[in-house]
Amino acid sequence: MTVALVGAGPGDPGLLTRRGAELLARAEVIVYDRLVSPALLDLAPPDVTRVYVGKAPDRAETAQDEINALLVEHGRAGRRVVRLKGGDPFVFGRGGEEAEALAAAGVPFEVVPGVTSAIGAPAYAGIPVTHRGVSTHFTVVTGHEDPAKGRADVDWEALARAGGTLVILMGAGRIDEIARRLVDGGLAGDTPVAAVRNGTRPDQRTVRATLGTIADVEIAAPAAIVVGDVAALDLGWFERQLLFGKTIVVTRAREQASSLKGRLEELGAEVLELPTITIEPVDFAVPDLDRYDWLVLTSVNGVHAFFGRGLARSGRDARSLAGVRVAAIGPGTADAVGEHGVRADLVPERFVAESLLEAFPDPVRADARVLLPRAERARDVLPEGLRERGYAVDVLPVYRTVKADPDPGALARVRAGDVDAITFTSSSTVGNFCDVVGELSDPQPAIVSIGPVTSATARERGLRVDAEAGEHTIEGLIAALLELFASGSSAR
Ligand code: SAH
Repeated sequence: MTVALVGAGPGDPGLLTRRGAELLARAEVIVYDRLVSPALLDLAPPDVTRVYVGKAPDRAETAQDEINALLVEHGRAGRRVVRLKGGDPFVFGRGGEEAEALAAAGVPFEVVPGVTSAIGAPAYAGIPVTHRGVSTHFTVVTGHEDPAKGRADVDWEALARAGGTLVILMGAGRIDEIARRLVDGGLAGDTPVAAVRNGTRPDQRTVRATLGTIADVEIAAPAAIVVGDVAALDLGWFERQLLFGKTIVVTRAREQASSLKGRLEELGAEVLELPTITIEPVDFAVPDLDRYDWLVLTSVNGVHAFFGRGLARSGRDARSLAGVRVAAIGPGTADAVGEHGVRADLVPERFVAESLLEAFPDPVRADARVLLPRAERARDVLPEGLRERGYAVDVLPVYRTVKADPDPGALARVRAGDVDAITFTSSSTVGNFCDVVGELSDPQPAIVSIGPVTSATARERGLRVDAEAGEHTIEGLIAALLELFASGSSAR
């Protein structure tokens, strides 16, 4: 198969089909337009050729025959092409024309249906397009007839007579005229209407009215407009999520950000990643582990570097830790250790270096040794504290953090204060963040920190800390964030 016409769904990247994801993962060329989520493009290999054919502020969208020619050209060259289209490719997507062009050129193609906005956007607004006892059928119609077609317009009067649910796509700009024609065709002026703008996206908005009042409300594209009794149903869930409508900045290194990002998105937030550091491997050799009484791990990165690039590469595995006790600074680190088949013997109650020291038992023999794999530069609290307790401590640098180039778009939004909260999960990210961002907007967005050490650094840098995690974990950070928003003290 060379060219695949793939439906990207209405916006939420989770609505892509598995087949679509498979094809993206091995695409050589992606041809995409305006309504496609950037998260989907990231599913493709990094060296994929991306061809944008949508509208941009400085130019019109690429003409359809140029797109067809492009698909034929790449297809003929035998490249794996994904033509990614908003919603479903065959619902007003002009996918039919692209398939015709490919067929005419003898280029093999495949069609992967997608969730159309005609059904997906209403679903995320809590509107079923059919409903027992309310509506037995639905019609999807364009509100924007192509003037070049040169044939009669949509027969709105006939649609009015047909009843049921009407879903109008591309109708935001002409809804006044459409509503008038539907009423002329016999629909009651009080027929419910719901317009779902940016459906399934973090900025979804649902406006409700009737055919008689819809002219008075502002509806901007892209919107799916539902007309009929089902439009009065409000089985809302998406816009009711706890963090819906909030933009939260994640400052962790991209390599570490996924669990926090995933949890925030599950709660309905828009996540803006602004990593100020990135994690780089360093070369190291794992010493003979029989010499050690304890292995102390203080970060998920350290764990994976130690076991993956360290032990595994030297042909060893967890068994070489048989005589070694293992301490993890917190549950995230302990889970990471668990992934390598080792259960941590010691996880302190509070997840900071000081409490690990407190919980650490005294040495049981004179020259008890601790191995401490961690970042190249880190606080000295732990090694010094352990030495004071009588341990010999070998610090083993297994990764390093370096400054990352932040995404200019994300940076501009943070500087402009166009975000609701900024999360910090370590002191080092606070420092790098302040260096990169400079002065924050006034009023400052809410700042939520993972614990007292991070909060102290933030305050030293002149930031106001609005909430601090009680338990110094990602879950604790999220709990603090939820509490802050629930108290309403951070309304933008
Ligand atoms: N093939 C697409 C439709 C393309 S036409 C599909 O199946 O969804 C473009 C129109 O689709 C827009 O004008 C708007 O009416 C609708 N649309 C696309 N994405 C949308 C979204 N996220 N929310 C609401 N409407 C959307």
